[in-house]
Amino acid sequence: MNQDVRKLSNEILIALFDKRVELESLNEAEMVDFIREVMHRRLWLEYGATSMFDFMTRAHYHYAPSVAQRKIDAARLLQMFPQVKELILSGEVNLTQLGMLAAGLRQKPMPPKMQKEILESIRGQTIKNTQVILNERLEIEVKTRPKIRVQRDGSVRAEITFTKEQWEVIERAKDILSHSVPNGELTEVLSYCARFTVAKKDSSLPSMEVKPRHCQGVSRTARRYVFQRDKTCCYVHADGRRCDSRYQLQVDHIVSLWRGGRNDVENLQLLCGLHNRYKYEQEIAESAAVS
Ligand SMILES: [Zn+2]
Repeated sequence: MNQDVRKLSNEILIALFDKRVELESLNEAEMVDFIREVMHRRLWLEYGATSMFDFMTRAHYHYAPSVAQRKIDAARLLQMFPQVKELILSGEVNLTQLGMLAAGLRQKPMPPKMQKEILESIRGQTIKNTQVILNERLEIEVKTRPKIRVQRDGSVRAEITFTKEQWEVIERAKDILSHSVPNGELTEVLSYCARFTVAKKDSSLPSMEVKPRHCQGVSRTARRYVFQRDKTCCYVHADGRRCDSRYQLQVDHIVSLWRGGRNDVENLQLLCGLHNRYKYEQEIAESAAVS
């Protein structure tokens, strides 16, 4: 069935999307099971392939190497632990997590009983948490020695390690600088901070003050008050969760000025850049529908 998604209501669009996601995990789980069986029968040998990986990327199919590797990793884990299929199906683990687990186990082999425990521990976890759990459970060595190399165009390639505390401060700086460095790239955030420090001592560099966008007619005091009161984005999602992002925070009029809203702090709230824009677009759409 081919339908024009542009004509669907929000509710139907998400309901159909849910269905697709469900189908996607069903396909993924079955695909991994096929790969497991083909590997088990060593069928790739009959297709002029040198390995299952070769079968998947060159000899028979043309998957991107990283995609093929993730699927094969998952299939190997499935061969050992039959519950893997169920976990993929229910969405409790995805192939990225299984790939990370397999890569970790290649670095630090473990007896099957412990592998199973680790598999259990990554159920329902985010990618970031999965990495933390794997590093801890597999005792993957913590690297601290920096590697710095000057490249032929004069740029510098650096591999450095931050402590957990240093990293938290950097993440915080990223949030604060989200107006000035919207892409949040680490190199840009760090060089911004460095320039800021240098500019304090060296007047030849242009000033790097952080200038938040000002909301029409809202006093400095009111702005400061709203920032201290709300701290993060106040937008409440359809499922009742608050956004709480610190990205490009802006003071928003709950009832817009052009709809008769006022500049009192009761009518002000913090919104992140995305929700501020989203709310604005919704209002435009509503007013277009009315007129
Ligand atoms: Zn938000």
